[in-house]
This record gives sequence, structure tokens and C-alpha cells, in this order.
Amino acid sequence: MSRNAEVIRSAFREYYFKQKSIHAPAAIDQREFGYSQFGMHGMVRHLSFKSIGELIATLVKEVPSDVYCSNALYRFPTLPMQEKQWLGADLIFDIDGKDLGLPCVPLHSYAVCAACGHASPPDDGEYSCSACGGKKADHVSIPCSKCIDGSKKEAKRLIDFMTEDLGVERQNIDAYFSGNNGFHFHVRDDSYRPLDSQARSDLVGYIAGVGLLAESVGVRKAQGGDDVFVKFPKSGLALGWRKKVADKLKIDSASIIKLGNIAKEKGGYAGFKAELDKMTREMGARIDPQVTTDVHRVFRMPGTINSKSGLAKIKCDELDSFDPFTDACLLGSAKVKVKMKTQVKFKLKGESYNLSKESAELPAYAAVYLICKGLADSA
Ligand SMILES: [Zn+2]
Ligand SMILES: [Zn+2]
Repeated sequence: MSRNAEVIRSAFREYYFKQKSIHAPAAIDQREFGYSQFGMHGMVRHLSFKSIGELIATLVKEVPSDVYCSNALYRFPTLPMQEKQWLGADLIFDIDGKDLGLPCVPLHSYAVCAACGHASPPDDGEYSCSACGGKKADHVSIPCSKCIDGSKKEAKRLIDFMTEDLGVERQNIDAYFSGNNGFHFHVRDDSYRPLDSQARSDLVGYIAGVGLLAESVGVRKAQGGDDVFVKFPKSGLALGWRKKVADKLKIDSASIIKLGNIAKEKGGYAGFKAELDKMTREMGARIDPQVTTDVHRVFRMPGTINSKSGLAKIKCDELDSFDPFTDACLLGSAKVKVKMKTQVKFKLKGESYNLSKESAELPAYAAVYLICKGLADSA
């Protein structure tokens, strides 16, 4: 095992030995667990644990790099997928800061050469490693407070959709920091468990604002052309996306002439439809569709450490005040020497670092953070 992996692993082991944040998921014995190991490809899957104590004992013994648990329940969780007998799956959502296209991201992103590990600030051109000439790089980001605020804003939108439009009780939505640059949501409401992949995909489409018909808000196509006429749906504009669009366009179900004019301004039926699409996507929440629609996946286990950062996937009781760089930074603080690969600025546990020197002695949580990101080596 590499020196880097040894340093990370020893910090993770200490965490799993002392941790207080790992709790048994509902119906633990019907879940599939999996984990990845340092220095190994792939995942050990199809594991089952009778109790949380048994799982934690395994974590302390094996010290995985990442730990996963199925959102699905199975009659036989350890059998191959086609023999597990699916019994339902928790409804989950994933918001990832990297999908939000925030303007600050290039300012704190780095390219780490896939061949030799050399790290450099990003440049716009085609990547070529200045140390070995390699053409492939992993792109890592040190999320800033704007990134986290961006994810929180998206998270709040998602919660609004869930509580206002889908009728999920707020107390049944558990919000977690993902351990790197986003948030995960687990719905604790058994009535969503039977939903199949298609039904979940429909929910994702609704929340993301995809595919609202122009007719739903009253814009119809006149026969044989792109001309429009307005006829509001009988069920009105008072709920869901219809209300959101009506509020945005400042119309109500008496605004026949006003809406007709808006549609004409946008260039008729097709133009209005394109504009409506753009508007609803902007108002929707940007969630990762695959996470929600895959009913057989294993998903990062709450309370465990994310090896992309050394931060924990941890519950956020108050999204507004949650600070991942303090609240999810749970590794020990023994001093660790590192060799920096490039200049890096970051903030952990309230302390700002701006490391440009070649070597530094840092608390384990900060050293592991940089090593996990590929921006420093254990010295
Ligand atoms: Zn290289
Ligand atoms: Zn940022």
C-alpha cells in the first residue's frame, strides 16, 4: 500500500474506532452493503449485516476507502442481483455542486495527472502534464463557500418541491452533506418504497422542470400553423408547475389576452414552448437523475468518510447554518507531514490555509484532505 494510502487509512481507522455518527438504517438486515478498499479497483458488494455493531466492527477491521448501503430492501441481500428479491427502495436524491455550473469553480479547480499525479492549476487549453507529458487528468475541486451556498440553494428548492408539490412531510426528509461537494436526501416515508424506476424518473422530471406542456398553462396550437390561442385548463392554474409558471408570467386564469400576447411575442407555439422549457428548467432543482431512478444501487452510507475528501457524509439538521468544513471534518488532529504538489488555499475547522511552501506539517484532517484531493503527498 502506498504511503499516502497508509496515512489516510490510519486516520479513517481512528475515526471508525471512535465514531458516534453511524446509525443503523431501517431494516438493516434487508439491505445490501458494499465497500471499496484502498489501492484496489472495484467494490466488495452483496454484504449483509444483522446489526450496526457488526457493520462497525467490519469497518474498524477492514478500513474501507468508501462505504455504501443499498436504498433498496431485499429478501436475500447477499445473493446475486437477480435472486435478491427486491422488496422496495427508499426514495433518494443527490445534489452535486459540480453539476451547478458555478462561476467560481475554475478558480479552485486543479488538474491531477492520471499517470504521475502531478498537480497543476487548470488552464483552458488541452491538458498536457508538465512533468510527464501525460494527456489524461483528474479534475479536482476545493469547494468554496459559494459552492456550498449554491448546493444549499438547490437543496432548498428540492425540499420545497418535495414538501409543497409531492406532499412529503418535512420531518420525513433527512438531509446529509455528501462528504465532498453536495447534499443527499433520504425520504423516510414507506409509501414511496414501492415506486419503480419509471415512477421515480417521472418524479425527477417533475422536480427538474422537464417536459411541461404549453397546453398545461393554456397555450394551444391553432390548426394548421404556428399560431396560438389561449384556453386555460379546466382544473386551473392554482397548483404545482402551473402556479409557478403563472406567477412567473404574472398571469391568472383571466389573462387570456395577456398570455396570448406573451406567446406571440415569443414567436408562436414553438417559440413559447422553447421559452417555457427554459423557464421551468431554471426554476427546477438540479438533481442527479440516475441516483433517484436506479432502484438497485448502493449509495454512500451516512456517517462514513468520503475518500474524495476525508470529510464525512453527515446529517444536517439545519441546512442554513451547516458548515461542512467544520461539521463534517471529523478526522483526528495528530500532526502529519506533507509535500505540497501545488499552491492550495482552503479552510477547515475555521482555520484558513494558504500553502505555497513545498512542505508543511498539518493536522491529520487537513493533510488527509489534501492527499485525498491529490494535491499533496505524505512526506
Ligand atoms: Zn504526469
Ligand atoms: Zn466555489
